[in-house]
Amino acid sequence: MPTAYRGRFAPTPSGPLHAGSLLAAVASYLDARHHGGEWLVRIEDIDPPRCPAGSADTILRQLDAFGLQRDGELRYQSQRHAAYAEALEQLKASGIAYPCDCSRKQWREHAIYPGWCRERAEPPAGEHAWRLDVRAAERFGGTRAIAGWRDRLQGAVQLDLATLGDVVLKRRDGLWAYQLAVVVDDAEQGITDVVRGLDLLDNSPWQRLLQAALDLPMPRLTHLPLITAANGQKLSKQNLAPALPEDASAIRTLLHHTLTLLGQAPPPELATASPAEQLAHATPCWSLAAVGTAPSLSAATTPMPR
Ligand code: GLU
Repeated sequence: MPTAYRGRFAPTPSGPLHAGSLLAAVASYLDARHHGGEWLVRIEDIDPPRCPAGSADTILRQLDAFGLQRDGELRYQSQRHAAYAEALEQLKASGIAYPCDCSRKQWREHAIYPGWCRERAEPPAGEHAWRLDVRAAERFGGTRAIAGWRDRLQGAVQLDLATLGDVVLKRRDGLWAYQLAVVVDDAEQGITDVVRGLDLLDNSPWQRLLQAALDLPMPRLTHLPLITAANGQKLSKQNLAPALPEDASAIRTLLHHTLTLLGQAPPPELATASPAEQLAHATPCWSLAAVGTAPSLSAATTPMPR
């Protein structure tokens, strides 16, 4: 029997988890468990130059240390080239993907790629990328319907595909782009619910268009607030988010703090409990409404648990 809920955490192993990615991991885990669902982990390692050796293993160790136990088979996107190639062939056949050899430099005066290669008579002779023609949304229920949905946390979202532009599906250097890979794998793994950070909100219209074009189900979407650093910027590897702790007592404190940031108000006495105990308590009480729709949560100003 197919499960009613199957969620996932899909980190890009460009470095270890930090407080922001941990928050997405914990929220996606609790949402899945609260619904009696499964929680899968997929390593999105399609861009080897961005993924230092050992990062995926570090992430898996971190998930373990925080008590986030996954279901099912662990998936690595680096082993899924054939599936992505097949999807791209399907998109080419329906005239939705087109080859493009424009360099970023050529269109630098524009905010988004202006679609110059959409109607070329001659395909590019040399190396080229493949792009998604976002006008195709008209064939799949209309651009408004594709770029608009009810997000479980953000409510009604309406974005504009025309201002998002023709995203790359396969890069000029031959690497697969996130949009195509994520859609193919979410479908293949039977994901019903995507719970991830708000920084990915405006990727959703492209993904929904790809799902429609490839005749794949569209998972429910939940976009979480982001954790910002003291300077107000999103926590990320680029702006040197502090490393997660490795010792057991600091892990307990940080998990408790993460649950607090997520609005779940864990009992103070659980701050010293094991991750398994904290998660077992948080699962039945999990409330998406309590997470709130503030776009960001400041790691600096939210009080640490006593
Ligand atoms: N791999 C993406 C990241 O680490 C997340 C993908 C997703 O959740 O859709 O930012």
